Amino acid sequence: MLELPLWAWTLAAAVLGLLVGSFLNVVILRLPERIKAEWRLDAFDTLEMEPDGQPMPPGIVREPSHCPHCRHPLAARDNIPVFGWLLLQGKCRYCKAPISIQYPLVELLCGMLSAAVVWKFGPGLPALAGLVFTWMLLALSGIDFRTQYLPDQLNYPLLWLGLLLSLLPMFVLPASAILGAAIGYLSLWSVYWLFKLLTGKEGMGYGDFKLLAALGAWMGPGALLPVILLSSFIGALLGGTLILLRKHGRDVPMPFGPFIAAAGWVWFIAGDWLWLHYAQLSGMQ
Ligand SMILES: [Zn+2]
Repeated sequence: MLELPLWAWTLAAAVLGLLVGSFLNVVILRLPERIKAEWRLDAFDTLEMEPDGQPMPPGIVREPSHCPHCRHPLAARDNIPVFGWLLLQGKCRYCKAPISIQYPLVELLCGMLSAAVVWKFGPGLPALAGLVFTWMLLALSGIDFRTQYLPDQLNYPLLWLGLLLSLLPMFVLPASAILGAAIGYLSLWSVYWLFKLLTGKEGMGYGDFKLLAALGAWMGPGALLPVILLSSFIGALLGGTLILLRKHGRDVPMPFGPFIAAAGWVWFIAGDWLWLHYAQLSGMQ
């Protein structure tokens, strides 16, 4: 199997990525609803009150996908990544309600990013770890984009996985992973408090610190500054474009998580290449 040429592995990763992308769509939609419902139940429990019997939102794996508008279950052919959406021309087969472009976009992005990971690492354990890293970052970004919230249920496993992989070691040594996690958390935590003390506003949330901690665990402390710089750059570029296109108000808070995740992914895949070119450009080499 390992004898297959790299392009075949890359193609296989793209197809796998498309399929995982459609699962991530479900996670992005349903996980925040589940978490919110669990918080409500916890609140009743804390207040020693009887729950009001509001039904739990659908589970992530158990319930089959259905149209969010008319609740009609989807046929298998409608669930084919990207093509299902294209064939339906973005409308539900049964009630003709528009289907969000989020679905094909997440699937396409997941397919392309998964292909890039396998192209970069070749078949093997680092590619497998890289795929899990990519998929978790995509789910986190999608949820933050929709809800302005980065759930611990994804941030913490990403952090733990980064720390545990350093024991092999895979991408960095354990000392680097631990320092990366701690410095990643503390750096954004201090920026947050400084900003809050100076302006009285909150620029980001604790989920952002945890996400940067997880990236530090995967890539070590050396990746943190480039990731923060890259994420500000991507954020300014995208945010500026959205404000210029008048799609986004100047004072409406924008989620920062997707930019940290995007910057982290870019540095994970192309950090060495970017660093080399930056060093050459700035005359350090
Ligand atoms: Zn429908």
